[in-house]
Amino acid sequence: MLDRNELFIDGNWAPPSSGEYGDVIEAATEKVLGRSAMAGTADIDAAVAAARAALDGPWGSMSRAERADVLDRFAAAMTARARDTAELVSRENGMPISLAKPTNGYGPAAMLSYYAGLIRAAEDEEVRPGALGGRTVVRSEPVGVVAAITPWNYPQPLAAMKIAPALAAGCTVVLKPAPETALDAFVFADAAQEAGLPAGVLNVVPGGREAGAHLVEHSGVDKVAFTGSTAAGRAIGEVCGRLLRPVTLELGGKSAAIVADDADLDVFAGHLLEVSLVNNGQTCHASTRILAPRSRYGEVVDAVTETVRALRVGDPLDKTTAIGPLVSAAQRDRVLGHIGAGRADGYQITTGGGVPGDLPQGWFVEPTVFVGVDNSASIAQEEIFGPVLTITEYSDIDDAVRIANDSVYGLGGTVWTTDEGRGLELARRIRTGTVGVNHYALELTAPFGGVKASGLGRELGPEGLAPYLAPKSVYFATR
Ligand code: NAD
Repeated sequence: MLDRNELFIDGNWAPPSSGEYGDVIEAATEKVLGRSAMAGTADIDAAVAAARAALDGPWGSMSRAERADVLDRFAAAMTARARDTAELVSRENGMPISLAKPTNGYGPAAMLSYYAGLIRAAEDEEVRPGALGGRTVVRSEPVGVVAAITPWNYPQPLAAMKIAPALAAGCTVVLKPAPETALDAFVFADAAQEAGLPAGVLNVVPGGREAGAHLVEHSGVDKVAFTGSTAAGRAIGEVCGRLLRPVTLELGGKSAAIVADDADLDVFAGHLLEVSLVNNGQTCHASTRILAPRSRYGEVVDAVTETVRALRVGDPLDKTTAIGPLVSAAQRDRVLGHIGAGRADGYQITTGGGVPGDLPQGWFVEPTVFVGVDNSASIAQEEIFGPVLTITEYSDIDDAVRIANDSVYGLGGTVWTTDEGRGLELARRIRTGTVGVNHYALELTAPFGGVKASGLGRELGPEGLAPYLAPKSVYFATR
């Protein structure tokens, strides 16, 4: 019933010319949830050609206000599907439904409406007086055809973070979602059709690594927007460097939660799930390295251990579930491998550490806490992407900042203190793209992205629109 046997290219549904299909497996049952068409290189070529034609055709000639109206209709069509989409993604990747509703369910519509509002309020052209006479008309033009490549962990909002600003800017899009979550990607196509997006403005072509690589290299693509692993991001960045093709890269993370000596541990424990273990730990910005002051180390270990032990692990469709299964057997095995490496290094586990005995089906891993971890350990340096936390002791606040910054990544992070001024001061000292003070939540109106191996560029906020606009200066001799 959930099968999607056709790709969405140029406003039409058609079977893949590759003849390839892939099964999407339900994370909690390990059973086939549905089959998806998988794009081959010829399908990618057709999608890029359609996006180019739409850019040069009806979409390119629309005013900002007209595009904004289309985006609002697109948002309404996504909202109408939000509950079903949330459930579908939970079944695909194991995300607890309580999280899937606001993120995969209602997130895309919020982004489409936000960017519709931003462009409606802005002008395409600005006249600037010249410094020595004359004037310049500075135009904001769409950058062109966008290749959007997304992972499986938050498939809907991560795609919308690219689609919404790209379409608002007047670009057209080829979306290549991850095969693990191919089914939900077609919701964008259904909603785009209902909203009356002109043919070719948005094309949906799930596929594997090869399809993604072909899209990145394609001569018809003007910009690449990627979210995924640092390894894939590096490979894509290298290609875009050679081609001088603009690229945004949202990659991995290994963020720190600095618990200051004046922190309210009830507040910290109350937010631990959403900050450090959100989406079963399959979240790039999660604060998975907990840094505890020596003076309160035991208290922090107890608070974290008790909180994590009490988390309800189980069916992702049950709204009381805190931790669902991981996305795949491969992901579960990778996470168990990291836990094994922590054990082999001699680190103690206070709760979790394996597969829950009462859940024989589904790719579950117990939420796990390692204590007394040196920040140089592999479990403190490598992104685990599962429900695994480490607790590391620090001597004073300078030591905490040093440890937080001792990472190849720089994406998220949190500071926990009863003094917000101190929180901001600490946030300024962490080399990262985003920091939460006594909580962590992405904000639609503010830029999100990383430094160091966590990526290049920003999404969300007005900063997330800028990469899809190319400024053009038109000089006039007269004022
Ligand atoms: P992945 O990098 O393996 O795959 C992501 C997407 O890229 C998939 O669609 C895949 O098919 C495609 N892909 C892979 N290699 C490619 C290549 N060489 N050329 C073109 N496309 C390619 O990542 P994953 O395992 O699916 O996702 C998990 C990773 O994503 C984690 O490392 C996580 O931290 C990261 N992530 C980052 C953010 C962020 O905003 N910074 C958000 C979510 C996830």
